[in-house]
Amino acid sequence: MTRIGIVGAAGRMGGNLVQATLNNEATELAAAVDRPGSSLIGSDVGELVGGGRMGVALTADLAAAAADFDVLIDFTLPDATEENLKVCREAGRAIVIGTTGHSPEQRQRIEDAARQIPVVFAPNYSAGVNLSLRLIELAARALGDDFDVEVIEAHHRHKVDAPSGTAMQMGKVLAGALERDLDECAVYGREGHTGERDRRTIGFETIRGGDIVGEHTVMFAGLGERIEITHRASSRMTFASGAVRAAAWVAQRPAGLYDMTHVLGLAS
Ligand code: NAD
Repeated sequence: MTRIGIVGAAGRMGGNLVQATLNNEATELAAAVDRPGSSLIGSDVGELVGGGRMGVALTADLAAAAADFDVLIDFTLPDATEENLKVCREAGRAIVIGTTGHSPEQRQRIEDAARQIPVVFAPNYSAGVNLSLRLIELAARALGDDFDVEVIEAHHRHKVDAPSGTAMQMGKVLAGALERDLDECAVYGREGHTGERDRRTIGFETIRGGDIVGEHTVMFAGLGERIEITHRASSRMTFASGAVRAAAWVAQRPAGLYDMTHVLGLAS
């Protein structure tokens, strides 16, 4: 049984992660952590997610909780990930990072930590999105520079980073397949007199509104035809159960940096 710690447990993903940990036969909930100052600290986690008492109280002290879990699942904020990574390094615990929006320096520190502890770092833990990544890679290789590529994503009104981590991951896969440098060819939104579209760009469009859980479309627009590969998440549970599956998987692995393609056996 893999003992799971969840940080960000009082958040939107947190509740789903608690539920997914209970649903997975290979995992048990050992600790639930949120930020110091949260009015929910001390509450029973089972009651927080609308179930009965579970006997696990929400705590703000991750370092003390590290004795209780094998793998930490982090769905918080980029700065918090850094703190959480530090605790896991010191305690020799594996970490599954779901948080998005890290700076290049923060991403580098995540890679550095993976030399010491097992780290799963994925912008999207749904199996469907990870399959979509393979499909868009295949499409980009087949269609090449003849088709214009646009990535369109939509999320709920509370999301604080844009474009989504998943859209950026899609951009990386597309740029790799088309042999382009994403830093040079990405165009984020358009306004005013933009001039004609440069054929070698990859465009990103962001929509924010209401309670949209997460939608991504990669459009390949050619002359006389258009191909669209779309993934729509209708429940956060898809991300949560994927992250818990990743936690159970990584508990058995040596130090290293993994993503969801490794967990799903899709890595080439
Ligand atoms: P949220 O704001 O509802 O929850 C975040 C939680 O983290 C809050 O309860 C907050 O109090 C807590 N937190 C903040 N700072 C903390 C700290 N220093 N220590 C402990 N807890 C802290 O947000 P959410 O919608 O649950 O999303 C969280 C993150 O997960 C975002 O970055 C989002 O983009 C990402 N996300 C990733 C995936 C994926 O599959 N990888 C899916 C959904 C969301």
